[in-house]
Amino acid sequence: MDSTLPTTRRQYLAITGVGLSAAAAGCASTGSDGATPKSKSSVTTDEPSDDRGITETGTEGDENETATDEDEPETVDDLPLFDAHTHVIPTEARGRDPLFAEQLVEWMDTNGVDRAVVLAFDAPEAYPVRAPSEWVLDEVDSYPDRLVPFCTVDPRDVDETDAADRLEHYIGRGARGFGELKMEMDIDDDRLELLYELCATYELPILFHTDRQMLRDEVGLPRLENVLASYPEVDFVAHAHGWWSHMSADVEALDLGRIPEGPIEAPGRVWELLAEYDNIYGDISTLGGWNALTRDEAYGQTFLERHHDQLVFGTDYLFPGHQIPHFALFEQFDLELDAWANIRHRNIETLLR
Ligand SMILES: [Zn+2]
Repeated sequence: MDSTLPTTRRQYLAITGVGLSAAAAGCASTGSDGATPKSKSSVTTDEPSDDRGITETGTEGDENETATDEDEPETVDDLPLFDAHTHVIPTEARGRDPLFAEQLVEWMDTNGVDRAVVLAFDAPEAYPVRAPSEWVLDEVDSYPDRLVPFCTVDPRDVDETDAADRLEHYIGRGARGFGELKMEMDIDDDRLELLYELCATYELPILFHTDRQMLRDEVGLPRLENVLASYPEVDFVAHAHGWWSHMSADVEALDLGRIPEGPIEAPGRVWELLAEYDNIYGDISTLGGWNALTRDEAYGQTFLERHHDQLVFGTDYLFPGHQIPHFALFEQFDLELDAWANIRHRNIETLLR
């Protein structure tokens, strides 16, 4: 790991311009006047949102030079928390209210989340409403220290030149990854090759959703393995039931679209692919990810110990009031702080550069 990265929550927050009090859990019992601590902190920050910039700033920061034992993280809650999977949604969908960046940041404050990746939905089947990349970039623009936008391109809408032009445009506006890749196709569909190649060219990590409808695969994930082997220079972040059902070796076809319950009989393909490929990461968001860790706690513990360098914390926060069980995982499992640091922020930070 890069030793210039901030190692404590205190250093991290100082560097990202987030006040400790603002990021502490429960602090955002915000008044109703709309003047949240968050918008203040982003307005007063003079650093652009760029992890490279943050890292460089970190090496010069007072906090690093004056670091004492007091700054060492003592508990898992002292570590920075980076949510690798959130959304903003422009209109009502499925009877749920829209979610704007301001509300997302308020929720982050309440739950001690320092930064978050914000994903786009450009394909019409990904969600009942689209969250177009251009709109996501507009939304997160006021929170450069807190929110990291990803973008997507629907390969059915564009030819190769168009796709490259759009990605360059989004990258120019601050996009740092590709996602959420979620379409009704096989994960190794020919039409996705163009995207995989462009993400290799532009060094964008890809966060994808796989289940029985979206980016489909077979039991055993042979199509995903084919993609991982074909694009070793692209980092893939796996999300949803198709992936997490393979926590256990006993998977049937229906499990790719649901949350399997009960104890794990033996480690499944998720363990094998993480061990064999260094370009695949697991995003523990949604009930699928949470269930994979908690359905059999002994296996969950072993899994976290073995694969913490390829797991990223994520929630898939999607609408105001969305209940998220993942914060309890930090109490439920017992890991070295270094392993928690990988899951909570280091791995996703590494993927973003
Ligand atoms: Zn999502």
